[in-house]
Amino acid sequence: MSLPKKLRKSIITSAYTLSCRRNPLREQFAGLRSNYESNNYQERKLRKIIKFSKKHSKYYTEKLSFITDDEIETAGLQELLIKIPYLEKSDLRTKANEDIKIPGVKGIIRETTGSTGIPVKVLVDRYTLAAQLKARWDFFAWHGILPGAIEGRFWGRKEQRYLQSSIKNFLLNRKIFTLDNKDIDKFNRELTILQNAKLDYFYGYPSLILKAAELFDNKNKIKPNPKVIFTTAEMLTEIQRRYISNVFGCPVFQEYGCSEVDIIAFECPNGHYHLNSERLYIEFLPVISGKYEVIISDLDNRCMPILRYKLGDLVELKSKGCDCGLPFSGITRVVGRTSDRLVSLPDGTFFHAVKFSHLIEQACKRGWLVRQYRIDHIEPRNIHLKLEGEFYDSQKKSLENFMINRLNILTKKQIKTEIIFCDIQDDGKHMYYRKYF
Ligand SMILES: [Zn+2]
Repeated sequence: MSLPKKLRKSIITSAYTLSCRRNPLREQFAGLRSNYESNNYQERKLRKIIKFSKKHSKYYTEKLSFITDDEIETAGLQELLIKIPYLEKSDLRTKANEDIKIPGVKGIIRETTGSTGIPVKVLVDRYTLAAQLKARWDFFAWHGILPGAIEGRFWGRKEQRYLQSSIKNFLLNRKIFTLDNKDIDKFNRELTILQNAKLDYFYGYPSLILKAAELFDNKNKIKPNPKVIFTTAEMLTEIQRRYISNVFGCPVFQEYGCSEVDIIAFECPNGHYHLNSERLYIEFLPVISGKYEVIISDLDNRCMPILRYKLGDLVELKSKGCDCGLPFSGITRVVGRTSDRLVSLPDGTFFHAVKFSHLIEQACKRGWLVRQYRIDHIEPRNIHLKLEGEFYDSQKKSLENFMINRLNILTKKQIKTEIIFCDIQDDGKHMYYRKYF
């Protein structure tokens, strides 16, 4: 190990340890796994944060006014939760956002634009940030990645403060790749770093990692050699996972999370999602057959408490635990976001846009290798289905027929579909279904 690497390893480890040491929640981190079940750890934390929110947050003082402190401490958990109204995304976009904040507590802004383009802003205190960081390293450790490992981060976001982020990236042993080929010099520099930096793991948007895989999908090229790849923020399809894994010769695992509360669940080596139950209390609300909406309470955030937050994500649940031996298995599959994902038909009926991804899965099973796709719903009676993958010309015609037939059934022939084979450009919005009217 070279000196700078040693140095960085010690810096990051010390910073990490310090952030936990200064954390009042520290005692709950130690020996947590064994504590968890025996001491009702999660339930105690949940009751504490409900009580805290009611006392200090203007919004919750009002919303929970009819619940007594005694009830918070002693009522049955389900009985108590039912009395707490859901927090909607729209609440975080309006004046309520100000009222939720705890006066005098400093926080760091976590912002997400979401599908409507109106930002959702959440403030996170530094103790919660430490807990989030701790959770991420715990999940990475399941896959053999420990603090100090060299990260290749595939991130589309422009860095606002260049110097500050460069220092941070240096300390955290992290190289950033945007793969933006508008700036050809920078793009070539990034490719050289990718080949030579001996990255331990990749982390980032699947669409960007997919782009990297396409660039290195050539036997004669020197390829980066990560031990593992973690994708986040967008849905990763099975065909994408297989392709990326084949090109880089390592497994690919998905992190499931959001800016508001960070990691919600993480895939274990068996490929099953395990919940971040140390940090979050997660409820599953039945929506349509076999699909549940995720409701989240953040057990740590004392700057802007998030209780029973309706995230708008649909998931399928596991009936049995996972045999990997790691705790808190729960979700089988993240199906998608519910908001703005309902496809309306001219006769007034609708279906969930996830049906499109089921169709793509069916096509992949039949041998058409669709790597990326996007549905542009241009007009009420007109859809453009864009497909990218490795197809021979003869396959294109049969795939086109297959998709049109299936879409005719799905839309009851009320929508005309045009199939377009093209490269799908990532514009940072990461949505597979878009409505333009
Ligand atoms: Zn597992």
